[in-house]
Amino acid sequence: MKINDEHSLKERVLTWDDTFNFRCYRGIDCFNSCCRDVTIFLNPLDVARLRKLLGMTSTEFLEQYTVRLVSDRTGIPAVVLKMRDDATKSCPFVQEEGCRVYEARPYSCRLYPLDTEEGVEYRFIVDPETCHGLRESQEWTVERWRREQGLYDYDDIDHDLKDVMSAEQLWESPIRNPRMQDMIYMALYDPDRFREFIFNTSFLKKFRVDEDILQKIRTDDLALLYFAGQWLRFSLFGKKGFLKLDKEYLERKKGEVLKGAGSKG
Ligand code: SF4
Ligand code: SF4
Repeated sequence: MKINDEHSLKERVLTWDDTFNFRCYRGIDCFNSCCRDVTIFLNPLDVARLRKLLGMTSTEFLEQYTVRLVSDRTGIPAVVLKMRDDATKSCPFVQEEGCRVYEARPYSCRLYPLDTEEGVEYRFIVDPETCHGLRESQEWTVERWRREQGLYDYDDIDHDLKDVMSAEQLWESPIRNPRMQDMIYMALYDPDRFREFIFNTSFLKKFRVDEDILQKIRTDDLALLYFAGQWLRFSLFGKKGFLKLDKEYLERKKGEVLKGAGSKG
């Protein structure tokens, strides 16, 4: 089906085969206008890519460029790009010639002018009055737009983390413990701090992790994100996956606790 009725564009629901007209280019009269005063949620892969492109640690990137939120519904932390604190409220990465981080631009910037909740149905988040690129003649299907914008790269990790980032189990009893919320934030968004936690605390005494996995997650942020998913699933829902608790360590700790309890009594 071709979507070409300007007036009802925002009400239309598109699936992958539907077509729409769009072209954005330097020189169009609304150029850069959509990079101001917007709420852009960053997903974990966005953060990993942006900090790499900018040559920053993830902790520095998060401090400088983002605001941390917490979902009321689940208690799971989320990260939003911090707009400039001036009259323009523009994105910190927009410059006259366009996006300074185009190669690592966030998921929602890639998907624009569309948005989706589950990746099946898509809607326009702007109309041709605001986004003049929607008046251009270049035609796309949703599927081709996703491909052109590199959105397929996100599918596997999105799918893998879905059950921890928007877990329905947590609707009934959201996470309210700030320490737990911080652990989730670290695992999802702050790979450098998560590495410190894995390699420089008692983590590897508690869990037995295969050497090839350890080698991979030392340097590979994407591998570390999959590892984060395993650890969060274990910590939040008790799902074991490939993480194995070290029984000797646990027995020793249990002994220490019992000894402590005995000496007090
Ligand atoms: S409003 Fe639309 S056409 Fe204009 S710069 Fe943004 S995406 Fe491009
Ligand atoms: S990241 Fe790039 S595309 Fe996205 S809002 Fe900022 S400047 Fe615009």
